[in-house]
Amino acid sequence: MTLDTIGEEIKKANSIAILAHESPDGDAIGSVLAMGLALENMGKQPDRIITEYPRKFQFLPGADKVKKESQVEKYDLAIALDCSDLRRLDGKEYFENAHKTIVIDHHSTNTMYGDINFVNPVATACCEILIGIFTYFELDIHQDLGTCILTGIITDTGGFKYQGVTAETFEFTAELLRKGVNVSEIYEKVLETRTRSNFELLKRILNRMEILENGKVAFTYITSQDEEEVHAEPGDHEGLVEVGRNVEGVEVSIFIRQIDNEAKYKISMRSTSDINVSDICYLFGGGGHPRAAGCVIQGTVEQVKEKIIQEVRNRLN
Ligand code: 5GP
Ligand code: MN
Repeated sequence: MTLDTIGEEIKKANSIAILAHESPDGDAIGSVLAMGLALENMGKQPDRIITEYPRKFQFLPGADKVKKESQVEKYDLAIALDCSDLRRLDGKEYFENAHKTIVIDHHSTNTMYGDINFVNPVATACCEILIGIFTYFELDIHQDLGTCILTGIITDTGGFKYQGVTAETFEFTAELLRKGVNVSEIYEKVLETRTRSNFELLKRILNRMEILENGKVAFTYITSQDEEEVHAEPGDHEGLVEVGRNVEGVEVSIFIRQIDNEAKYKISMRSTSDINVSDICYLFGGGGHPRAAGCVIQGTVEQVKEKIIQEVRNRLN
């Protein structure tokens, strides 16, 4: 079984790199930190590599052990978490050079780019898959490990509110509460606190938000200049796409963010209906989940907007 193979590879490896997708969210970070603690419990000394670690996740156990880069050229083992394809992997060079590679993920669009791939698209978060793996390895899910795992689950379920949340999600959370995990602290820090820069960006995206296609599509954007002006740090744009989605009647929310002052935008999409935004992003080389997905499109704001809305329009009733 795949999990036995994963266990064997971990046991054999002397050097291990733990990686996740670029622009990491709470699930990516929670997964990397949880895997780091778990491997330490297994007697390993893994490197957790995240190039741009968002400030709001600094409170998590093991955050101080995260490295921006590593001097190790060839790891025995590289583990990619919460990342659907190699192109999006932060620190992909460590993965490409590693002797053996493992991918653990919950995106249905995962391209199975590892030597060993453990992908479960039904899981609400990559962290949820880790619970299964750690339980299989008979590891104790203690308070610190639980805090990291719950951060991923809370992030990717929008605070237990998205479809996909099951009775098990709550049962597991209850178990962690008993172990002393501070659920309200995680909730507060991860979901309820805006950085000042994020707040300034929020004002801008609200001002620019257009409700199109008979009220079914919300569109807004930020440029690199906006980010410079508000002194945005990594992660400060997180959550802005949610604003449009919460407007009554909106089925698809689109938020686009300029990349490095170029004629190129990162697209974030959310759906509240049967419109599968992952399918739409897939057309542009991206992917994600049916109700939350992303991709990159070349062009000006107007050009990118037209390209993406065209595809949404084709799917609206
Ligand atoms: P977000 O809009 O929060 O950045 O991403 C929403 C979801 O889509 C996440 O699960 C994320 O991993 C996925 N996603 C975002 N951008 C891309 C992309 O360019 N390619 C792929 N394959 N997935 C993406
Ligand atoms: Mn995830």
